[in-house]
Amino acid sequence: MFTSLTSRIAAVGIMVATALFVLVLAIVDASRQSRESFQWVMHSSQIIQAMEETMAGLRDAESGQRGYVLTQNPGLAQSFERRIEDARQSYGQLYELTKDNPVQNRRVREFGVLMDERVELMNTPLQMARQNAFNEARTAISEGRGHETMNALVLIAQDFLNEEEAIRDKRIMSAERRLAWGRGLALFGGPLIALLTLLLSAMAISRIRYPTRVLDAAMTRFGQGEMDARVEEKMGSKEFDRLAHGYNAMAQKLETTSAAQERSKAELRRVHDELLASSQTLKERGEVMELLGAMSHRMQATRTDEELAEVISIFVPRVMPDLPGALYAYNNSRNLLVPMSVWGEPRDVGQSFAPDKCWALRRGQEHYVSGKGKDVVCDHVHEDVVAYHCEPLLASGEVIGVLYMDGILDSEARFRMSVLVENIASAMTNRRLQRDLKEQTIRDPLTGLFNRRYMEEALALEVARASRADTPLCVVMCDVDHFKRFNDEYGHDAGDAVLALVASELGERFRDGDIVCRYGGEEFTIIAPGTTKEDLLRRVENVREAMSKLSPRLRNQLLGSITMSFGISQWNPDMERTCADLLKHADAALYQAKRDGRNRTVMYEAGALTSAE
Ligand code: GH3
Ligand code: MG
Ligand code: MG
Repeated sequence: MFTSLTSRIAAVGIMVATALFVLVLAIVDASRQSRESFQWVMHSSQIIQAMEETMAGLRDAESGQRGYVLTQNPGLAQSFERRIEDARQSYGQLYELTKDNPVQNRRVREFGVLMDERVELMNTPLQMARQNAFNEARTAISEGRGHETMNALVLIAQDFLNEEEAIRDKRIMSAERRLAWGRGLALFGGPLIALLTLLLSAMAISRIRYPTRVLDAAMTRFGQGEMDARVEEKMGSKEFDRLAHGYNAMAQKLETTSAAQERSKAELRRVHDELLASSQTLKERGEVMELLGAMSHRMQATRTDEELAEVISIFVPRVMPDLPGALYAYNNSRNLLVPMSVWGEPRDVGQSFAPDKCWALRRGQEHYVSGKGKDVVCDHVHEDVVAYHCEPLLASGEVIGVLYMDGILDSEARFRMSVLVENIASAMTNRRLQRDLKEQTIRDPLTGLFNRRYMEEALALEVARASRADTPLCVVMCDVDHFKRFNDEYGHDAGDAVLALVASELGERFRDGDIVCRYGGEEFTIIAPGTTKEDLLRRVENVREAMSKLSPRLRNQLLGSITMSFGISQWNPDMERTCADLLKHADAALYQAKRDGRNRTVMYEAGALTSAE
């Protein structure tokens, strides 16, 4: 019924107040009853007193009557009258006082009748005495009737007094009982109510203390960050149930809000990190672009393939750190991809391979393998390599090479790779164009050999090198014998075909380090560094013999055989630094060969020309 703490406390308060009120009422009532009892005691005492005074008046009056009759002293007669009057007055009071008690009142009335009789009996002798009949008066007194009446009066008075005293004692006892009851109420009821109040207060405190302790503990835990701190919602009172429910709802809400806050904080942190990462990426990209710009600048400024390869091998590892790799480019005959530049230490180093060995070249797009068995592996890749990346280099839709990376590329590395590949491809194309352009200026278009201008430059360089290093250097001048006849007999085209054949034969027959040039017309010059004229003579003779075995053709028509005359000269330190003497000597030797009958080799010796046939 009392599920609310307030109503419980209110009920306790009402109970205590009621108990106090009842106690006060009881005490007041007890005191009122006591006072009443005492009034009754007083009443009885007044009755007793009135009876005693009446009796005393009667006795005094009797003494006065007798004294007067015996002594004839009139003063005593007067006291008789006064005392009778007193006795009557007291009787009147007695009558009034006993009206509430019919038994006693009846006795009073009986007493009154006897008292009147007694007064009459005393009055008669007194009147006699007043008329000086003292003797008759004494006789009347001594007759004894008065004495009997007096005894009867005493008896009635005695009964009356006994009764009244008994009543008074009863009333005293009753008053004392009521007093004791009041005191008992005060002594017992007060502490009882105080005890009750204490008990109920203790109960109420315990009802408050338990939930406040539970709530306090939960709130402390919650405050320390335990967001799931909750309380039992049955606290034993409506107020604390509501408080617990309210706390749980608040904690739930805070937990949800805090979780949402945590989520948005995490999201904020993630976005911040992403921003940081992207700003870092942007910064890195900026640096990479700067690096690529520098690389590109240098690549464009290179003059040889070697320089280009060097720039690439320096810059690629800077753009793509920790990724060893190599750049492969087509060889001149475009049948092989040869390593042009290598950086880091790729496991797959420096082996040339055919284009069909690489899946990137076959597909014309990047090809990468991120792990064993993840994709087909290019044949040119070393068997130990499990992850690699091949990116073809394209120029105007044509594949010009492939960039190989030993490792996996993340998205950033792939971005760099794409820019890198474009830059390198463009530089390689540029390089090729430059080379072609240069070739055009140094090569003879008909034969593909170096032209005379290039020959003169190369010769000057070789002379300087030979003089510096003190190594041998020789020059060969050669001329097709009776070349005019090819022109004359088969036409100018046939002459051109013979020239092309001769040039290709010379290009193939001489060593790689030898520089074969077309001097002009059907005349050729070969610069042969690092070889003596004697050694060269043997080689030249081989060439001459091979030349004579050629069968030149034009449109399936045989053009007859070819012979050539050769003149050899060797550089010596006494010569002028200009190469004019060296050429002059070779030319002189050639001239001698022609004069000696052609199809021979003549070696220029100091002051003499030695012919070898
Ligand atoms: P010799 O044995 O004395 O060297 O006699 P030759 O006929 O070879 O020499 P000559 O100097 O009399 O003739 C050279 C000819 O080569 C003259 C020229 O018309 C011809 N000629 C020069 N340049 C070319 C060329 O590029 N193509 C063709 N088809 N003929 C050329
Ligand atoms: Mg000639
Ligand atoms: Mg000739």
